[in-house]
Amino acid sequence: MEEFSQNYLLELKGLVKDFPFKKGLLGGTQQAVQAVRGVDLNLKPGESLSLVGESGCGKSTLAKLAMRLINPTQGQVIFRGQDLADLKEKELRSLRKNFQMIFQDPYSSLNPRMSVGQTLQEPLEAHHQGSPKEQQDKVLEKLNAVGLDKSALNKYPHEFSGGQRQRIGIARSLMLNPQLIIADEPISALDLSIQAQILNLLKELQENLKLTYLFITHDLKVVSQISNRVAIMYLGKIVEEIPSAKLEQSRHPYTHALLGAVSQVPEKIHPSLPRGPTGKSSHPKASIKILEGDVPSPIHPPSGCSFHTRCPFVQEICRQKEPLLESLEEKHQVACHLVAEVPSFSTKQAQAA
Ligand code: SF4
Repeated sequence: MEEFSQNYLLELKGLVKDFPFKKGLLGGTQQAVQAVRGVDLNLKPGESLSLVGESGCGKSTLAKLAMRLINPTQGQVIFRGQDLADLKEKELRSLRKNFQMIFQDPYSSLNPRMSVGQTLQEPLEAHHQGSPKEQQDKVLEKLNAVGLDKSALNKYPHEFSGGQRQRIGIARSLMLNPQLIIADEPISALDLSIQAQILNLLKELQENLKLTYLFITHDLKVVSQISNRVAIMYLGKIVEEIPSAKLEQSRHPYTHALLGAVSQVPEKIHPSLPRGPTGKSSHPKASIKILEGDVPSPIHPPSGCSFHTRCPFVQEICRQKEPLLESLEEKHQVACHLVAEVPSFSTKQAQAA
């Protein structure tokens, strides 16, 4: 295998994605939705990184850029040391079997006219992998790996529950033995009890198959179960990156707002955060500003710090100057001018107790 830089499996360097459009009658003025505004991220083999943020913050666009389903306006996507922009279409198609995607809505991502057996066999046929017998064996192997049996083979997507359909989607993503799985909100369309099952399945598969995950979610409650690291995204930029186990030491006000929103979630699927005697979270909700209002328009992001229109700590510098992502300690980076003054999430809790 070729040597790749610093042993990263995936590197996103300076990624920018604008979606230009014309506003007004007769062509009007050219404007652009600035969906991703300069993102650097990397993933080592076997690592799991959660990308977290509200709807509309650019997470799904970043996932599509990482899969090279869309081209960046600027920046590079490097997989195993290879810049995907340098590849011809055929080379990209061949390399793409190493990175697969799991989608939010398993129903719309499965072809309703294809049986489960056909759905799972299709990627093998497309990549000319194995004889028909070997393909059938592999279909069964992956079906079993996601907790389904051969009785599913001749059925169609509408005959399954949402959780089972997501299992089929996961099995399909595994057919070509990928190294990297990009999971875009894979549990958010499912019932709460099923969410826990699918999370457990993803974790088990990661351990057994040594997979690398980029896990995209709007919900911080799941990240400690599935990931080593968390990157918090706001309006197209990463504002904090921190090990999942240290989330309580996060320092960005936006991360705190997301953590505060988690406080209503049952402990069963959110074991890492502190609980009171009733089993409910002991987060001092009164001290944590849960965000009001929507994410500002990505067509005209706010000046300076993009979060300044919603931040409870905002000062004049925040409106004037953009904060850069800077290291606070090992593996912990924050983009906030007032990081020295904003207490960690756990300190806030202690103060409120
Ligand atoms: Fe809030 Fe200012 Fe920090 Fe932005 S830079 S998060 S507005 S304190």
